[in-house]
Amino acid sequence: MLFLSAASPAVPEGAAMPRVEIPANPRAKALKYPGLVVVIDPGHGTMDKDGRITGQGASGSLNASLAKGLGLKLRAGGSAELPEELITLDYGMRIMARLREAGVETYSIRSYEPGDERPWFKVDYKGHDQEANNKLRAQWAEKHKAVLFLRIHFDGSENKQDSGFSIWYNDQSIHDKDGALKKASYDCSESIRRRLASAVELKDLGLKRFERPIYGFKHASMPAVLLELGYLSNPDDTLYVSRPANADIYAEAISQGILDYFAESH
Ligand SMILES: [Zn+2]
Repeated sequence: MLFLSAASPAVPEGAAMPRVEIPANPRAKALKYPGLVVVIDPGHGTMDKDGRITGQGASGSLNASLAKGLGLKLRAGGSAELPEELITLDYGMRIMARLREAGVETYSIRSYEPGDERPWFKVDYKGHDQEANNKLRAQWAEKHKAVLFLRIHFDGSENKQDSGFSIWYNDQSIHDKDGALKKASYDCSESIRRRLASAVELKDLGLKRFERPIYGFKHASMPAVLLELGYLSNPDDTLYVSRPANADIYAEAISQGILDYFAESH
């Protein structure tokens, strides 16, 4: 079992949110979908010069009681900051646990299992080179022969009213010669969207595509999907997504959506 705790280097100092027990990858006989490998990329989480994980994503604020329950460090005023890289890691671990339980071989870019290499951290810190970082993440998914690259994020906006979840499909891979990766990315996004829409209380903002280059998409040689699961800039969304029971609802819906996609397309 892989058990992430506050002492794990995967979790920023002073924050203890991910405490999810993860079963080992299913063995050959237990594989429900042989050859279909999912690689999860919990967004952000770069390493600073002292080896601590920091992020450059969105962040939300939680009241003291919920923050304490999640093991977050309280600020002077009694609230706590919920950084995006922490909640993406928590959700990534929950999704990984469910997929493995369902017989799907699954890896996470930010889990620390024996033999894992994480070259993107070095690139992130030394060069702050976003393209190199995201290219390495996509290549790591390729190394594991992933048929799905699942990227997990939470949104931020200057408008605190912005709320809901959206799903971004990859239509910009340089490896997509015939449109097959785009179609598969779209189909998988739609399967996940359907499950999320009927399971979570946040508004369904639909499927979207990026106008600007997204390096983790551009360099992905397999279908890729990016989930923006709620706005950390919106206090109601933050409260909703940070409740562990709701995180489980999300994880269940997302993994069911992936299984729907596998059943329909493979
Ligand atoms: Zn993000």
